Amino acid sequence: MSHLGSQRLFHTKKEYIVIYLDHAATTKPRPEVIRKMMDCLEQEYGNASANYQFASVPRRILQEARERIAASLSVQPEEIFFTSGGTESDNWAIRSAARERSNRGRHIITSAIEHPAVLETMRELERNGYEITWILPDETGAIQASAVEAAVRRDTILISIMYANNETGRIQPIREIGDIARRHGVLFHTDAVQAYGQIPITASEDGFDLLSASGHKLYGPKGIGFLYIRSGTITTPLLTGGGQESGVRSGTENIPAIAGLSEAVALGMEDLAERAGAEWKKKERFAECVRSRCPYIVENGGIGERRDWLPGIWNFSFPGLSGEAMQVWLDMAGICVSTGSACASASRKPSHVLLAMGIDQAQADSSIRISIGRETTEEELQETAWRIQETAEKLYRLTGADRNSGNF
Ligand code: PLP
Repeated sequence: MSHLGSQRLFHTKKEYIVIYLDHAATTKPRPEVIRKMMDCLEQEYGNASANYQFASVPRRILQEARERIAASLSVQPEEIFFTSGGTESDNWAIRSAARERSNRGRHIITSAIEHPAVLETMRELERNGYEITWILPDETGAIQASAVEAAVRRDTILISIMYANNETGRIQPIREIGDIARRHGVLFHTDAVQAYGQIPITASEDGFDLLSASGHKLYGPKGIGFLYIRSGTITTPLLTGGGQESGVRSGTENIPAIAGLSEAVALGMEDLAERAGAEWKKKERFAECVRSRCPYIVENGGIGERRDWLPGIWNFSFPGLSGEAMQVWLDMAGICVSTGSACASASRKPSHVLLAMGIDQAQADSSIRISIGRETTEEELQETAWRIQETAEKLYRLTGADRNSGNF
């Protein structure tokens, strides 16, 4: 993609072809995933817990999915528990850890940039007598391992720090934090909903005891995810009932969704390195293109070194404009992006992640997040840069805001 190409694509005056750039919010299931799910829905509808032979195939699908996911993290199949997604996995890990360890202490360490699935769970624990230390990130959105270590106390029972942030893409120093947790004998949970399937993760190297992941972020189905529980670390069920998932997560197994997740994991692990490399290159070229078309934008966190950032996410602000207005107008121009976390966008508050990074409210208010996926093409990105420039210019004209003032 030459960064100021002259050829317009996918665009007529009357109709825009939609360009989807919100893969951090959700992804399109791969065709192989859909086929696997359809097969299951049509043929393998037996209850995996039943004893007759008809249930043997769903049972095998379940076991293979567990083995495949375990292999992707280099852990044991018995340590993988299927859930309804990232939110449930986060809730389960944190609530059970807090409850089970409360006789040792009531202090928990987390960060101020977690997803609401973690933040709100922590807030509820706080209301119930637990003490939470909220670690702030640096200006790039990184949580310093030294800050986590300094916060550890004799009564600390749990550290929960996300693997990579959903709004900025910043990868956290999970290995160092895992080391700290191990040295102090504290449980370590990581919300890897954005990272799992995008970058390589190995439990033994990273030292986490609990890890949350979700199918719909890695080209699998929605409503399915898993919690990795290092053997023996937490044992209380979140849902009681028929005793599925070794008695700790009851409910008839969602075999079609599990089969879809399993397929997405198999395919995702196969092309992970290649996909990540391609997405990173696309993001770099796209950023170059947007910077030349709109030199006034301000990047939130930046792009930096590849090892520190998820390949597909980029967050930036338009001085003087509202990010929400940009998002709505870009939507009218056929571009799907998000302002802050999609899951929190109903709340219309400025991003807690950007504010925690020390970014002022006006700059946070004027931000958008672009997230590139495996099918995003260079042509789409070039067209997007063009539409961003046109949309921003329209809004600057309409509002009279000064794009070069440096003020937000
Ligand atoms: N954690 C993070 C970091 C996320 O980005 C999300 C979804 O956006 C979740 C948790 C929630 O996952 P789910 O939608 O599967 O409940």
